[in-house]
Amino acid sequence: MRSRIFFKLLAAFVLVIAGTTVTIDFLVRRAWEGSLRQEIERNLNQKTVLFAHRVDTDRTHSLQDIAAQEGQAAGARATIIDPTGKVLADSEADASLMENHARRKEFIAALQGTLGSDERRSHTLGIPFLYVAAPVSGGAVRLAYPLSDVEAATRRVSRTLLVSSALAFLIAMLIAGIAAQYSARRLRRIVAFADRIAAGDLSARIAETSADEIGQVAAALDKTARMLEESFAALQTSQRQLETLLNSMQDAVIAVGRDGRVQWANRGMDRLVPQRTRLHAPIIETVRDPDFLTAVRGANDGMRVTSARAASIIPGRTFDVTAAPMPGGGAVAVLRDLTETERVEKTRRDFIANVSHELRTPLTSIQGYTETLLDSAPESNHAREFLEIIRKNATRMSRLTEDLLTLARVESGEQPFDIQPVAPGELLEEAAQSFREIARNQGIEFLVENSAQTPVSADREAIHQVFSNLIDNALKYGGTRRRIVLGARPLERDVEFFVRDSGPGIPFEHLSRLFERFYRVDKARSRESGGTGLGLAIAKHIVLAHGGTIRAESELNHGSTFLFTLPIVHAA
Ligand code: ADP
Repeated sequence: MRSRIFFKLLAAFVLVIAGTTVTIDFLVRRAWEGSLRQEIERNLNQKTVLFAHRVDTDRTHSLQDIAAQEGQAAGARATIIDPTGKVLADSEADASLMENHARRKEFIAALQGTLGSDERRSHTLGIPFLYVAAPVSGGAVRLAYPLSDVEAATRRVSRTLLVSSALAFLIAMLIAGIAAQYSARRLRRIVAFADRIAAGDLSARIAETSADEIGQVAAALDKTARMLEESFAALQTSQRQLETLLNSMQDAVIAVGRDGRVQWANRGMDRLVPQRTRLHAPIIETVRDPDFLTAVRGANDGMRVTSARAASIIPGRTFDVTAAPMPGGGAVAVLRDLTETERVEKTRRDFIANVSHELRTPLTSIQGYTETLLDSAPESNHAREFLEIIRKNATRMSRLTEDLLTLARVESGEQPFDIQPVAPGELLEEAAQSFREIARNQGIEFLVENSAQTPVSADREAIHQVFSNLIDNALKYGGTRRRIVLGARPLERDVEFFVRDSGPGIPFEHLSRLFERFYRVDKARSRESGGTGLGLAIAKHIVLAHGGTIRAESELNHGSTFLFTLPIVHAA
């Protein structure tokens, strides 16, 4: 990291330095070189004009002397020629040996009377010279100035520039190193902070004081960490509360992941299984009950709340299992111990059954003796009237005990049902047969409407009892508009049977409670018609035992309809 930042900074610096160096070298050198040349040229022009003037005026010195002196004074080579181009004197060479100079560019101009100049490489010395020639009477003079000095000076400047660049590079390297070191140290603190957060230490902070971009990033990260820490603390608190709540529950609770492994269990669950629940172990290793496992699987795979009754988790104890799917997959199951409730229920049922059973014999005896006394009692006698009342009440009591016994048997599940596939039409016909005659005698229209053909799973006798109770009610409470319709219609997985009367109907608020034991809408009416208040409760338990449902629909003055379903055979 450090070297990367360092090299990046260095590269940037080097680019800037190199760019600057090249630009300075190119522009400054050219400008400098140009002005230097101009200066030299101007100087040389003046000196040449002075030189020409001296040649024209000095009569005391020979031309050779003048050339030597002027050449030395100007720091240049001085040459004098005649109009033909022949060299008359030269400050550095023997004039007689020199070739004709008439064709030199500067001399051509000077011989024509103007100042001429040229710049070229000297044949003899091989270095560039600036030549300036001026006319004199009887020829021309010329000064030649070697430009190699200019080149040397330019090279010097370039070299200085290069050295300065190298120095700048060294300084840049130093600055880049310090800057990289500084940034890297700050970034390393951010990385260390991130590592601590990743390791779960949410109290980590960077605490950067600088306000630059790195400082801003650090402040934003610190803020995020602080918020994370707060949310996490709140989450932990609510988790602890939830755990305490679940642990204080009597019911056992266990959460299972999508993979069928135990994720969490409360103390109730630990108490239930002797070897305690093992977290992350397959659920089957903790609870082996097949009904429990099916319910959990149902919630896990089917994503719906599934209930079951598990009897083999602990021998002799029964549990009500409710498994619900969890939002992220998996399921949570609650196990409620029903053993005690069931024991109390059974005691209650047994007590009712025993009392009913015990009452049977004395009631039969009362009924028998009343009949005998009635046979011998004179027609118009008070005693006969009382005997009639005794008989009527004894019969009602006997019906009540019979109904209580039936209900206790059906409720306890002790009554074995002989479930067979039966056509709905047959069930309806059997019920109709028993009541057609009674209805006719009471002047009641009795109809059967059947649109279901698929066989249902049913115990004929038990369903006959359901129909009997419902039709009996329809006859009793059917009112004056006398019509009873018995029917069946197919649903998706069931067949729905119904018994409809055209009586006064049942107020809405009673509908949901009709199937409770001893619940009556009109107590006096029920008692008067010999009702026990148990008929619908018995019907409900029989239908539930078949896997069906039962309900009532009614509207005041528009009759009542009692509907129950039975599963069709392939669905069952
Ligand atoms: P009961 O022996 O009193 O008839 P049920 O359990 O059969 O007991 O019925 C409970 C109550 O429901 C009855 O007392 C009656 O008030 C009401 N009920 C049942 N069937 C009908 C019906 N077809 N029309 C009106 N009320 C009804």
